[in-house]
Amino acid sequence: MKYTTVIGLEIHAELLTKTKVFCGCQNSFGSRVNGNCCPVCTGMPGALPVLNKRAVELAIAAGLSFGCAITKNTRWDRKNYFYPDLAKAYQISQLYAPICVGGGIEARGGRFIRLNRIHLEEDAGKLVHTRGNTLVDYNRAGVPLIEIVTEPDLRSAEDAAEFVEKVRRTLVYAGVSDGKMERGSLRVDANISVMPEGSGVYGTRTEIKNLNSFKFVKKAIEFEAERQAEVLNGGGRVIQETRRYDENSGETFSMRSKEDAHDYRYFPDPDIRPLVITDRDIERVLAEIPEPPQKRFLRYLNLGISAADADVILENKAVSDLFDGAVFAGANPVAAANAVKGEILRHYNPAEENGDIDMSAEELAKALKLAEKNEISGAGLKTAIRCMLLEKMPLDGVLKRENLIIKEDSGLVASVVKKVVENNPKAAAQYKNGDAKVLSYFMGQCARELKGGALAATIRAELERVLNSD
Ligand SMILES: [Zn+2]
Repeated sequence: MKYTTVIGLEIHAELLTKTKVFCGCQNSFGSRVNGNCCPVCTGMPGALPVLNKRAVELAIAAGLSFGCAITKNTRWDRKNYFYPDLAKAYQISQLYAPICVGGGIEARGGRFIRLNRIHLEEDAGKLVHTRGNTLVDYNRAGVPLIEIVTEPDLRSAEDAAEFVEKVRRTLVYAGVSDGKMERGSLRVDANISVMPEGSGVYGTRTEIKNLNSFKFVKKAIEFEAERQAEVLNGGGRVIQETRRYDENSGETFSMRSKEDAHDYRYFPDPDIRPLVITDRDIERVLAEIPEPPQKRFLRYLNLGISAADADVILENKAVSDLFDGAVFAGANPVAAANAVKGEILRHYNPAEENGDIDMSAEELAKALKLAEKNEISGAGLKTAIRCMLLEKMPLDGVLKRENLIIKEDSGLVASVVKKVVENNPKAAAQYKNGDAKVLSYFMGQCARELKGGALAATIRAELERVLNSD
């Protein structure tokens, strides 16, 4: 029997705050082990949490980016469980009144993926396994985290991976999270079930924990859906459980039977008051959020950019901002997109850089306009962009040093064309007999003689004039 895969995701994203969510410890990656800890985040008796307002603002920003409703009276619950990375033996989370509800974004093929909720909680510490011992690093304990929970609306592993990228991009644009999956800033749990094709009744689901790359999201879901289909086709039944994905074998393994909310004995946290969020709070956050990537995408299509190119530009916010700046300064959008796709992304690797591109959008626009007016050549434009980007040179400096402004000497062009045509009587005859292809041969000969001292369009016009005259 053939099956349809049904997927719901829980995406955990660490928030870009300076300090942790319930204490003043630094929220930073790569600090000295257990260097960012205090009695609160290590659960010492009597230590009391104080809520970080910035974490609340960023959670609201995430909610607004996905069109969620913001809960005006939100509150905190204790999720009780024992594990060495959780010193208090409970996590402060939100079960009953999550900070954001509803919302969603469009996935591939126009399918709308609904969000169930976004709640704010604290991260746990990290276990470090070494030479037969297990050590605990509490630097991550108490780092603010949002959990974005979708409805089971996704139907393929590929759609799920693409959706995670869309969510990641949205969070990065809004300044909510750095979205670095390789650092664990963004982690995905996937709930997967299969149902017979055409059926509307979901099967029993399993949950795969802690997927930390798009590739693993896709591979783990593919494997798990196939495994469940095999179990069902073999006459067995799928057991509701939590599974682990092994990156080396590409398989999922049973970890434990799936726990339900009541297993955690949730109850309202008596140490933190419920939080009232006002319309003014929401408006203030709204004013802070830059235009989200989905909106930019539609705007780019309207500018005449292809969907594929728009996607390339949007992959990185600094690149998208530079593109927008250049277009705003008067550059032709398609020329700007080509420059981004070509010379800029050839030398600027968003994965290796942190933050902005050190290049002026106005200068880029100026260079593009010079190329459009044929005052510099296509190759000259590439040189200009490369020098501005890598050597941080002002455009004027590059133009002078590289001698990029084309000063055409019409007399010289005419004499070179005349000489080249006279030296190639055979090719000239071929052209006159209707073989237009030899024109590019002539173009090459002339360009070599002129050494970039003339535009291709000028050479072509002169060539055609000479070849067509008797
Ligand atoms: Zn602390």
